[in-house]
Amino acid sequence: ISNEHPKVIHTTCAYCGVGCGIKATVTDKELHLVDIEGRKDHPANLGRLCSKGSALGETVSLENRLLTPFIDEQRVGWDKALDEVANRLKATLDEYGPEAVALYGSGQLLTEDYYVANKLMKGFIGTGNMDTNSRLCMASTVAGQKRAFGSDTVPGSYEDLELADMVVLVGANTAWCHPVLFQRIRAAKEQRPEMKVVVIDPRVTDTCDIADLHLPLKSGTDTALFNKLFSYLQKHNKVDTAYVDQHTQGFEEALKAAEKVGDFSAVAELCGVEKTALKQFCQWFADTDKVVTAWSQGVNQSVAGTDKVNAIVNCHLITGRIGKPGTGPLSLTGQPNAMGGREVGGLANQLAAHMEFANAEDIDRVRRFWNAPNIARSPGKTAVDLFNAMDNGEIKFVWIMGTNPVVSMPDANTVISALKKCPTVVVSDCIEKTDTSEFAHIRLPAAGWSEKDGTVTNSERRISRQRALFDLSGESKPDWWIISRVAEKVGFGEAFDYQSSADIFREHAALSAFENNSQGRVRDFNIGAVASISDAEYEALEPFQWPLIKGHKAAQPHTRLFADGGYFTETGRATVVSTEFKVSYHQPNTDYPLLLNTGRVRDHWHTMTRTALSPRLSQHMDEPFVEVHPDDAEKYGLADQALCRLSTAFDSILIRVTVTPSVGKGNVFMPMHWTRQNSKTGHCGVLVKSAVDPWSKQPGCKHTPASIEAV
Ligand code: SF4
Repeated sequence: ISNEHPKVIHTTCAYCGVGCGIKATVTDKELHLVDIEGRKDHPANLGRLCSKGSALGETVSLENRLLTPFIDEQRVGWDKALDEVANRLKATLDEYGPEAVALYGSGQLLTEDYYVANKLMKGFIGTGNMDTNSRLCMASTVAGQKRAFGSDTVPGSYEDLELADMVVLVGANTAWCHPVLFQRIRAAKEQRPEMKVVVIDPRVTDTCDIADLHLPLKSGTDTALFNKLFSYLQKHNKVDTAYVDQHTQGFEEALKAAEKVGDFSAVAELCGVEKTALKQFCQWFADTDKVVTAWSQGVNQSVAGTDKVNAIVNCHLITGRIGKPGTGPLSLTGQPNAMGGREVGGLANQLAAHMEFANAEDIDRVRRFWNAPNIARSPGKTAVDLFNAMDNGEIKFVWIMGTNPVVSMPDANTVISALKKCPTVVVSDCIEKTDTSEFAHIRLPAAGWSEKDGTVTNSERRISRQRALFDLSGESKPDWWIISRVAEKVGFGEAFDYQSSADIFREHAALSAFENNSQGRVRDFNIGAVASISDAEYEALEPFQWPLIKGHKAAQPHTRLFADGGYFTETGRATVVSTEFKVSYHQPNTDYPLLLNTGRVRDHWHTMTRTALSPRLSQHMDEPFVEVHPDDAEKYGLADQALCRLSTAFDSILIRVTVTPSVGKGNVFMPMHWTRQNSKTGHCGVLVKSAVDPWSKQPGCKHTPASIEAV
């Protein structure tokens, strides 16, 4: 950055998976002063920003920044810190082997950081034990899309939300969690009032403000509802038989499974919704050609999350409503770079560039590309298993990057116990004190959002540049630099000789295209067209959607896949997956008669390390709370704003009550943001069970039996 100010820099928002483009005007580099506006020419937001994005300029101070490396509580230089990490890593590998080592990353990391971390762990240390907080976010969508499409591919674009005649939002408080997409849907509906919006969510949220129909379904019953829709579509001749015959497989079996759910009365009772409302939804869906169904954590964070995703996708596949303007299933990614992490293999069951451990050819291909004879040959431990393995002594070295698992993981007490027992805990973070860094033996200062340089991928497969607004603060370094220097000290120097994020991006793009015959559509993820861009071209790179293959360099502003089939399964057909509904085992019982649902508030992000720095964001909701239905408040003797004790089988906390009809009877809701550090009592992670979905291994954080009592 030059010293001439003001300087305008195009970058990407730090927060949610919408991935809004930002025009940042740096007015004082030394004082970290910057004006933030939405980029009008960024296809994700077209100039819009939400409250969090527009307050980013208030969060770039050095307050609570980690600015030097620490070993235990002693400030040290980089050389000493890197030696300590490398020596402990080597000693663990020598004594216990690669499976005793793990890395836990974050959807906040840039793609380049993720790429290097994955290459070190899977390629050179030789373990699959690299997972990320994206496991808590999108793993069920990844697994569902792979089952259906043969690849982790989002078929459509945000533009489809505006072109649709009906938008169905499932388990997604879009108004608060993906606000710019909500603004786009609302604006489209204002222009075309006949456009319908259906919200399927146990709570009455702000998203319902634009809903023509709200189905307040019981937590965990989404599969039953979409199975009913499947059988309704078939019964009313709304199946696109030409598309099904040409481009899908598994229809008959899936229909049989869907039909088991029963008639409208049975499903309405099961899902806790009015029969007439359920019928209305099915009829509207059946009669509307242009439908987009978008979902988020209410679907993913479930012990049946993958089946829920497939139950939704099925209804689009059998009607051929996929890949065409205004149609399609669309997962709304929680984090800024959960998609970028998936692209480089950031999840423990992935290898790299959408290649798989399950495929021996993929392992060999990546081994040859990386020149990594020691490459891992099987998946590693996923988030919950990873911390459990640490707790039982199997994992003896963990490196945690840019995330706060003590707060964000379910069954947080086990995470705390695991970190206490683990002989080496390394934490790379831009924040000085987090609930997790309390347990670190070595703390490494990472660059923050306003200093990082690289790329991120949003929910519509769009890769955008994130650019540094300021020089690196203190002794902080980019994550890719820290990982590469440790790799060198462990003895893998040649493979990690990166000089810039552009070097890494070129290698990542080249791997995506390596032996990937674009004409034959061997693998979905291919950005080979940008594998040889110059440093200057990388610096100037404008947002684009993948796949971006040779000959298609002039990308369309919005790309869609699968309108004419061409799926990435062995047969080239999409699989209509049988999703028989089973009652989830997270049911209320005598001791815990309520259901605890968790989620976000409008103006805070994750564990609040950034958003709490903005006074105006903290004004919206300034302390943790539990929402209770008025009937339940009366039943349990709870007054509005009084303290109560909220308990599950795992722990119990004191928290303030908000009495509101926005939660259903028998349900309570509390936000996920407050931590042990910033609120002694409002940490919901200790209450949430860590049971996982069998396909995705994503924990069911949305759905824990609970009890409540006045204090
Ligand atoms: Fe940032 Fe998401 Fe808000 Fe856009 S919608 S400004 S990406 S938080």
